[in-house]
Amino acid sequence: TAQFDIDMIRQQFPALAQQCHGQPLVYLDSAATSQKPLVVIETIQRYYSGHNANVHRGSHSLTAAATAQFEQARTTVQHFIHAAQREEIIWTRGATEALNLIAQTYARQQLQPGDEILVSELEHHANIVPWQIVAEQTGAKVVKLPMQPDCTLDMAAFAQLLTPRTKIVAVAHITNVTGTRNPIESIIAAAHQQGAVVVVDGAQAVAHEKIDVQVLDADFYVFSGHKLFAPAGIGVLYGKRALLDAMPPWHGGGKMVEKVTFDGTTFSDLPGKFEAGTPNVAGSLALAAAIDWLSEIDHTAAEAHIHRLRQLAIDGIREIDGLRVVGLQPDASLFSFVVEGVHHQDIATLLDQQGIALRAGHHCAHPMLDALGLSGTLRVSLALYNTEQDVARFVAALHKACDLL
Ligand code: PMP
Repeated sequence: TAQFDIDMIRQQFPALAQQCHGQPLVYLDSAATSQKPLVVIETIQRYYSGHNANVHRGSHSLTAAATAQFEQARTTVQHFIHAAQREEIIWTRGATEALNLIAQTYARQQLQPGDEILVSELEHHANIVPWQIVAEQTGAKVVKLPMQPDCTLDMAAFAQLLTPRTKIVAVAHITNVTGTRNPIESIIAAAHQQGAVVVVDGAQAVAHEKIDVQVLDADFYVFSGHKLFAPAGIGVLYGKRALLDAMPPWHGGGKMVEKVTFDGTTFSDLPGKFEAGTPNVAGSLALAAAIDWLSEIDHTAAEAHIHRLRQLAIDGIREIDGLRVVGLQPDASLFSFVVEGVHHQDIATLLDQQGIALRAGHHCAHPMLDALGLSGTLRVSLALYNTEQDVARFVAALHKACDLL
């Protein structure tokens, strides 16, 4: 049965045991990237120490074993997000590459001049810029779906902006700046009524939510491995089979072809069609190892732990003069804050000197920060390996920093 034992969990993360400026590291930047458990690190080491071989090529035992594991990892991801078919899981380098793939294949083929792509204002740049690029290429238009002052989407505006011209709606499942959980269920249902497809950026959601792409009825769902306890350089594009089948390939090269001649080339079936070149086999296996590891942990207990720590952190810093939590969301794993009259980077530097790692800046979300009238925030993002002691250290360090500044 699934368990939640914080001491056991922490022991799995060698990176958390280090010192930073002579103090034990307090890692509060898991929304940027999570630390990696030993099983993930060992999976990479085991792969390169033993099974390393190219996949889907040649005919020796090592390549056969590597291919079997690589395809098994795909099945693990399929079950993790409850996709109907394993061919609907495409390996990418991460969420960013997956979003660009959708823009440059599906969108580039579908969009006509005058068509609209409705993009939420609280997106990471990775879910804005690919749409701007394809809009430029096709004559389509990117339309902003605004947020409200409380950092939730303006659903009344959504109802107005969603029209027969809308061909694509691009929205994050959870926003990286404030942890806002967007109502993607109703967005997807409404978009489908208008015949639009919905691209969900799940980068911040996968480590915290149980994902069921079939229940969501998401057309596309993307995420990166590195925010899910796996290494950087591996990520996932989920797409409905009918959409993926109809999409042209993107990168050309080995494995994505059936037959190449100088008169023309025919392409592989899914998922190979979108996986040109030698893939990141170790990354795929490590991502599957991370998913298997996570599935052993009591999800409800882990999320309750994270929410409790977040509340402790907010309660601990609330009294600081001029401090304001930006767009506080219930039950998020992270929060952003600013301190009036003090630059966020100065605070981050003073925290770093006390061993506290968090993110300061615009969080790759210029439009959202602009809407808030801010140049940056400090962001505390928690994972299941954080402790009450981490929070106490952060609270004390922030008080000290603010006293100094
Ligand atoms: N979307 C969101 C909401 C994110 O938080 C991030 C990572 N900060 C990305 C997309 C991009 O992910 P990656 O850089 O791993 O491709």
